[in-house]
Amino acid sequence: MSVEAGAEPRKIEKVAGAALRITWVDDHVSTFSWPYLRRECPCANCVDEWTGARRLDPAQIAEEVHPEGIDMVGNYALRFTWSDRHSTGIYAFALLRRLCPCSDCAREIA
Ligand SMILES: [Zn+2]
Repeated sequence: MSVEAGAEPRKIEKVAGAALRITWVDDHVSTFSWPYLRRECPCANCVDEWTGARRLDPAQIAEEVHPEGIDMVGNYALRFTWSDRHSTGIYAFALLRRLCPCSDCAREIA
């Protein structure tokens, strides 16, 4: 199955221990820590739109960062309002699926 085909969430939940868990339609489960998601923010301030180079210095993001709000964007993305007041990143589910940090997905990319 292609990554895009599996990029549809069946369940989105906040997990105690500061993380977001997404269960995908293909039963794959992704668990993202808040600082990981914040550092992967795809907005134009954090990533150069032309080169794709990351402008955000990961060291600037506190480990305690967490969302004060999570909103659905249409039916294709999530928007986080982070505790550092950053809220311009739209995290499409296709992106979140690509960002899945589990060992299976990490191996596929490598
Ligand atoms: Zn951003």
